[in-house]
Amino acid sequence: MIAAEDFRPKFLAKTSMARKAADAAIGATKKALLEMGRKHGRDVRLVHPAHTTMDCGRCGARTKHALPLSERTYTCTACGAVSSRDKNSARVMLLRAGLDPAGVEGVRPPGALLREAA
Ligand SMILES: [Zn+2]
Repeated sequence: MIAAEDFRPKFLAKTSMARKAADAAIGATKKALLEMGRKHGRDVRLVHPAHTTMDCGRCGARTKHALPLSERTYTCTACGAVSSRDKNSARVMLLRAGLDPAGVEGVRPPGALLREAA
């Protein structure tokens, strides 16, 4: 099962041409992800992209202010959870997709074991 943000990067593009190009690229990526998921029998769920970097993946509390991009660690003021910004966001996305992130931690991608054995 895969959960991904239904990312709509409107704020990133300064010109309408750049926006069209970015929208097309993101659209193609989402389409490819969904198609590959279908082909390989994976359950791909696109989740609402708002606040995935501000919500706590453990207790669901939302921070008052967005984390600056340079801040790589998410610290929850409500429950005290500390994790890497990206892992926290990934957990929020899994929860939003209705998936249980428990047990996801430590799952290795194929190939990781081969590298370690070598
Ligand atoms: Zn929390």
